[in-house]
Amino acid sequence: MTTSASPSVIDLRSDTVTRPTPAMLAAMMAAPVGDDVYEEDPTVRRLEEMAAARFGLEAGLFCPSGTMTNQIAIKAHTEPLSEVICEQTSHIYLWEVGGIAFHSGASVALLPGQRGRLTAAQVEAAIRPENVHYPSTQLISLENTHNRGGGSCYALEDLQAISDVARRHGIARHLDGARIFNALVATGQRSEDYGQFFDSISVCLSKGLGTPVGSVLLGSAAFLKKCKRIRKVMGGGWRQAGYLAAAGIYALENNVARLADDHRRAARLAEVLGQQPYVAEVLTPETNLVIFRLADTMPAADFLATLEQQGIRASSFGPQWIRFVTHLDVDDAGLNRVEAALAAMA
Ligand SMILES: *Cc1c(COP(=O)(O)O)cnc(C)c1O
Repeated sequence: MTTSASPSVIDLRSDTVTRPTPAMLAAMMAAPVGDDVYEEDPTVRRLEEMAAARFGLEAGLFCPSGTMTNQIAIKAHTEPLSEVICEQTSHIYLWEVGGIAFHSGASVALLPGQRGRLTAAQVEAAIRPENVHYPSTQLISLENTHNRGGGSCYALEDLQAISDVARRHGIARHLDGARIFNALVATGQRSEDYGQFFDSISVCLSKGLGTPVGSVLLGSAAFLKKCKRIRKVMGGGWRQAGYLAAAGIYALENNVARLADDHRRAARLAEVLGQQPYVAEVLTPETNLVIFRLADTMPAADFLATLEQQGIRASSFGPQWIRFVTHLDVDDAGLNRVEAALAAMA
């Protein structure tokens, strides 16, 4: 059975490109399923319960994408004429099609972070006072790891401090944890500690964890009941989703600890990039994302085309900025090929 892309292609564009392994596919094929709209899919239920327990939250809602889990959570936490505080390069603002305006009719307060990380003082200063001219601040949304920040991680004390500020002001707290497991593995933090800092957490199963599809939204049972109606109106009520949930269960049980390998490979890529004369700047990777800026002498289009000729794919991340992502389908042999290709361009 062929389950992976041609081995000649090393795809560093994203950790979403992974294909399920034979063992994951076998788990999917063996899953007991039912109609999830009738709440009759035992495998979906098991995944939701398992994920919620890991993060110290009550319940889960399995959805097709991280964009959907984030946008459902934002809509459930806010009402029109409100405002969401987030970092200016956060995924919920930059890469979710303006969904905050579209779905929730809410405004955004965009704060400049340090590699995507906000401080409690910044958050507190952005909370709107009661005034007829202002939207009312109803939600703070953080991202951990932070994608545009180069896979950066929050310290637990900072999450605690931001959570405290939000609670004091009666503001809901959401975490876009698309790559939360990368943060947990890199920092040694415990997932169980996260439930106290957030009212809702979105976890992607199709990034580093390697499933074909799916994200799970975690929170209280009452909150998720509201979210389930929003998922339905978005067309996200699905049926025998247990086949996909089984991949998520398999990933939670087997693919978390191995993220450390992706981090090691990202660190190695950053080291090699740092030695190249055509690289102007590399954000030191904290997890599996390597973001770097090419010198003006190396046009980004030429760099990407040269890699592409050798079966290596990467993505452009702004003028002269490139992102490499390590994942389940990039092994040490692939890493060596990338290193050789980078050195040959010097
Ligand atoms: C990938 C990602 C998402 C969700 O993306 P989908 O493609 O909709 O699953 C959300 N937040 C961050 C930070 C991401 O990187």
